[in-house]
Amino acid sequence: MKDNSTGGGRKQGAPSPCAACKLLRRRCAQDCVFSPYFPADEPQKFANVHKVFGASNVNKMLQVQT
Ligand SMILES: [Zn+2]
Repeated sequence: MKDNSTGGGRKQGAPSPCAACKLLRRRCAQDCVFSPYFPADEPQKFANVHKVFGASNVNKMLQVQT
C-alpha cells in the first residue's frame, strides 16, 4: 500500500506561486522575497500594490534589505 495521496488534484513539485510571482509570471523561488508579504491566497493585495507602484518599484522596495 502506498501512502502518497495528498488529496486534491495538485501536482507535487509545483507549489502555487505567491500572489506577486503569479501576477508577474515569475518563477516563485522557495526564498521568494514576495511570498511573506503577498501570499497566494491574497492575490488582490499585490494587485493593488502593483497597480499603484508598478512591479519594478515593488521589487526595489522589497530588495532594500539584503
Ligand atoms: Zn513568489
